Amino acid sequence: MPENPFPYSDTNKRYLTQSYYLKKRFGQKVMKISLNCGFTCPNIDGSKGYGGCTFCLSGSGGFGGERGRPVTEQFYEVKERMNRKWSEGRYIPYFQANTNTYAPAWRLRELYEEALGLPNVVGLAISTRPDCVDDETLDLLEELSGQTYLTVELGLQTIHDKTAERLNRCHSSDDFFKCTERLHGRGINVCAHIINGLPGEDHSMMLQTVRALAGLPIHQVKIHLLHILRGTKLAEDYFHGEFILPTLEEYVETVCAQLEILPPEVIIGRITGDGGRDVLEAPLWSLKKFTVMNEIDKKLARENRWQGKLYGNGQRT
Ligand code: SF4
Repeated sequence: MPENPFPYSDTNKRYLTQSYYLKKRFGQKVMKISLNCGFTCPNIDGSKGYGGCTFCLSGSGGFGGERGRPVTEQFYEVKERMNRKWSEGRYIPYFQANTNTYAPAWRLRELYEEALGLPNVVGLAISTRPDCVDDETLDLLEELSGQTYLTVELGLQTIHDKTAERLNRCHSSDDFFKCTERLHGRGINVCAHIINGLPGEDHSMMLQTVRALAGLPIHQVKIHLLHILRGTKLAEDYFHGEFILPTLEEYVETVCAQLEILPPEVIIGRITGDGGRDVLEAPLWSLKKFTVMNEIDKKLARENRWQGKLYGNGQRT
């Protein structure tokens, strides 16, 4: 195997992992604590749409604490579970479930400040939609960003508006561009979520999404694999044969190619999905998450590829 030429790694990883970045920045292990604060979503309650995105199973935060319980209680409960596996470290409360800026700014302040006041908390991550950050919320986020390591996670999923319509996203890629610009303009870190394997998208379309991100001031990218979850509209479409899912080999190649396109300083928050075993219909190969990650590592090493190898370099399609 060739030596690892990727500069931001002290393991076999040829991309900038979140754990590497956080360890370098804070000098010790930093763990994210998923929270569910009982938010809904404008794409569920009718403000933007009904029924939500076709892949979404009543919101995107199935792994958070119990819905709507106080932040402090949820934090300690999740932290205790984590501390069975890892010893004490630093923590980033992650407002994950549904749309976590979808409330008046005074209420958001209460929740965010409660989380920030918890012991050994070094940052906040807030997941939301790009059409759901109003000016008052932006002011609040700017203020918090001056106090802590804040990342606002925006669901983009795809740069292709036709696909987004098919998924009932009810926002455009332009909404994402504008929100990224507004957040970045206030000095706030942006994380973009994308999904590989969406209906009607081929390998080159998935690379186009990443190519668009490579030209933006993005702090982090989370690459998900499309999961077909029981009970969703997407599951109906899938079982009606309206689209097919990538194989493991195809998925691995797409992720490797995307990593090559992204700038080397962009943190890769994830490179596969995390569908719950109890609700996942397909692809079942994705349940072996470490196999997927290992296959990506092996392919990058075997073919001497790494994150950023093609960044600013004509980039293949
Ligand atoms: S925007 Fe997020 S929470 Fe809302 S329906 Fe779509 S995936 Fe679910």
